[in-house]
Amino acid sequence: MASSYKAPMPTVQKNPIKEVGNLNPPTRLLCGPGPGNAHPRVHAAMSLPQIGHLDPAFMALVEDLKALLRYVWQTDNEFTIPVSGTGSAAWEAAVANLTSPGDVHLTCVNGYFGERHCDMASRYGAKVERLERPWGEAFTLAEITAAMEKTKPQILWLCYAETSTGIRQPMEGIAELCRKHECLLMLDTVTAIGGVPLYLDKWGVDACYAGTQKCLSCPPGVAPLTLGPRALAKMAKRAEKGEKVANWYLDMTMIQKYLVAAAGAPRVYHHTAPISMVYAFREALTLIAEEGLEEVWKRHSDTAEYFWGLMADMGLEMLVKDPNERLTSLHTVKVPEGINAAEAVKHCREKFRIEIGGGLGAALSGKIWRIGLMGFNSRKEIALQVAAALKDALMAQGWKGPNKGVL
Ligand SMILES: *Cc1c(COP(=O)(O)O)cnc(C)c1O
Repeated sequence: MASSYKAPMPTVQKNPIKEVGNLNPPTRLLCGPGPGNAHPRVHAAMSLPQIGHLDPAFMALVEDLKALLRYVWQTDNEFTIPVSGTGSAAWEAAVANLTSPGDVHLTCVNGYFGERHCDMASRYGAKVERLERPWGEAFTLAEITAAMEKTKPQILWLCYAETSTGIRQPMEGIAELCRKHECLLMLDTVTAIGGVPLYLDKWGVDACYAGTQKCLSCPPGVAPLTLGPRALAKMAKRAEKGEKVANWYLDMTMIQKYLVAAAGAPRVYHHTAPISMVYAFREALTLIAEEGLEEVWKRHSDTAEYFWGLMADMGLEMLVKDPNERLTSLHTVKVPEGINAAEAVKHCREKFRIEIGGGLGAALSGKIWRIGLMGFNSRKEIALQVAAALKDALMAQGWKGPNKGVL
């Protein structure tokens, strides 16, 4: 007999399709501090058919990616992987896996990202010791040596490419210092990888992370991480003591069984890798290998020098005075007296669809622009377009600079 019971009709929310319309992002030339524009071949790679995250074909392409990544970073570290997430996820993975509660993190703070490391490390129980420099200045070996002797850290954190200031940190002597003090060297290379020369093994870097959306011409979503033998030894020691990594998603002792297993060993599921992003990252690294790493570095420095010349012709000053200390990927230009920096950013976006960045943090907000000529966008024609747009933005505010060179 049919039941006379009638379930109450659930009310369904109003369908928003009429209001939301079609997906239609604007076209932009991305020349801020990141993301930069992805290479067309990277976009194409993302649209290839999906396979499973444990498919032998997927594991094989991850192995190719790892080999390419070792080349781009100049390391032989076996543990060199794509982390699911953006650069900050790979960063947090390095911190979470290598920090025992009470460990001293000597953190070199000369910009926004140093502040972030202090915050991140303290969340994992580190005792944070800050070594400070004014924003836009690099640390000397003597300063770092003195701070090491005073604070006896387990981890030294340095930012090789400070995206908030455009400064590049010299690495000479740091490796020897860290070994002498039995301290791990953790390096941020987010705005350098695939643009500014990096030699991780030569520099004795124990843990390093980066991002894909700056010089690698790839959208954000996966992030490179590498751990050297000294870092792996610390991880093993922690595991032996029964110290669990205080972050399940980024526990590299588990992810190791998925992404770093020996040839032929079973791959253990941990989480579903972002398949399409891994395709994209692999293609981005392939592009660098095809061009050649040294050629890629040279293209960045040629474009940078051309751009610095245009800025000088326009009568604009760079925040980092010494060209040898500047990044060749990210350029910090001083805002002239009487100019509204945010208005100029808006002008470039609205009139030319060009994105440039403003200053970050109290010290530099409104005082500089941050202009990224990174990866696919590290080309002279792009440098010229950005400089011309910036000049137009300045003239719209009544600025009268010198009329030298092509501008
Ligand atoms: C962009 C950036 C990061 C953070 O990367 P996300 O991909 O935004 O998480 C970290 N360090 C530096 C120096 C950066 O420029």
